[in-house]
Amino acid sequence: MQNHIGSLYWVISHICNSECDHCYMCCGPRAASFTVDEAAAVIDNLPRRINHSIILSGGEVLHPRNRALLFFISGRLRARYNLPVYIQTNGDFLDASLIRDCLDHGIRHISIASMDAHHASRFGALKEKEAHMRALLKSGGLVEMKPTAGLSPDKVRRMALIKGVLRAAAPRLLEKPSFSIWGANEDLWLGGNWARGRSAESGQALLNAGHNFCGIWSGGLNFLKEGRPVQEIAVQLGYAYPCCPSTRMALGDLREDRLVSVLERAARHRVFRAIDRGKPWLGASEFGISAARARNRFKELGNVCMMCDELLALLDPDEFPASPFPVYPQNKTDAPYFTLPTYLHRSRTCSKTRNIRWKSALLNISDADTIAPSP
Ligand code: SF4
Ligand code: SF4
Repeated sequence: MQNHIGSLYWVISHICNSECDHCYMCCGPRAASFTVDEAAAVIDNLPRRINHSIILSGGEVLHPRNRALLFFISGRLRARYNLPVYIQTNGDFLDASLIRDCLDHGIRHISIASMDAHHASRFGALKEKEAHMRALLKSGGLVEMKPTAGLSPDKVRRMALIKGVLRAAAPRLLEKPSFSIWGANEDLWLGGNWARGRSAESGQALLNAGHNFCGIWSGGLNFLKEGRPVQEIAVQLGYAYPCCPSTRMALGDLREDRLVSVLERAARHRVFRAIDRGKPWLGASEFGISAARARNRFKELGNVCMMCDELLALLDPDEFPASPFPVYPQNKTDAPYFTLPTYLHRSRTCSKTRNIRWKSALLNISDADTIAPSP
């Protein structure tokens, strides 16, 4: 695998001023964040090139408790990749001076992603809020662009082509600061997806057995297409995922692992290759489960990500770390729906015994001192 990716979508903190019912990561004033040093370690482990776009999100990135972290990350990424950095914000803290700070720290696009009835607002009506944001951003010298959320892979390819031409012919045009305004709605954002966190707990997540969220831009589709415009890697704090909703087992912890190595490891697994095709059920055979059974489970749950959670729980945690965020509904059930067949369970524990013996030999420890694998 070469040392580059298409795009990076990085949730840098879960701290937020709001606690919306439709939030899929349980963001709020008491939620998780991480330190500037940890962020620096993640940046060191990113690939040499990011070819298309960098989006930073939260939580609320402009929350006073996130600002130093945001500006550290945006400045570093800008210096390293020479790409315009985009941010997604609910806009609650935005004023003229903060817009200037953003531009001074390498941010070139501000996306107001809260124009909907789900977000709390100090404005009487959405129209009023939209007019205020538009006037504020325009007065800061930003030009309005159409929102890019929910684009099809074809449109993403076309946009990357246009940007590539512009980068070569008129780079200053791409540097022009811009903004977009959009929000969650049933068609674009909430239709049968985000069965995670408060969205799942509050019943906001619409279950829809006909909607394969994995096969769209924010899903796992194309996450292994190294360097191409359609490849987007999602990172939550330090953990890498193939998709925005985040998988129950992470691809890796980028505070310690290089992203390129993490993707290489994922590409060796049938289940992640199936996710790259936007069809996680096709990878069920990795665990001795038929694709038809996995697909039926997707229909039964009415949500492909919930089925994916159950499937990925069978991955070896020594290879893929469990996602540390307590937002997966199945974590709360007692009996797992899918289980590893005995022959796979045995071969996994045997290979662990072999590893323990091998490592023990290196350390000159006798067999009697080794830890027996669980039955
Ligand atoms: S949906 Fe956005 S604004 Fe609402 S709690 Fe989550 S991160 Fe904050
Ligand atoms: S099915 Fe799995 S990989 Fe695909 S979007 Fe959902 S959680 Fe992500």
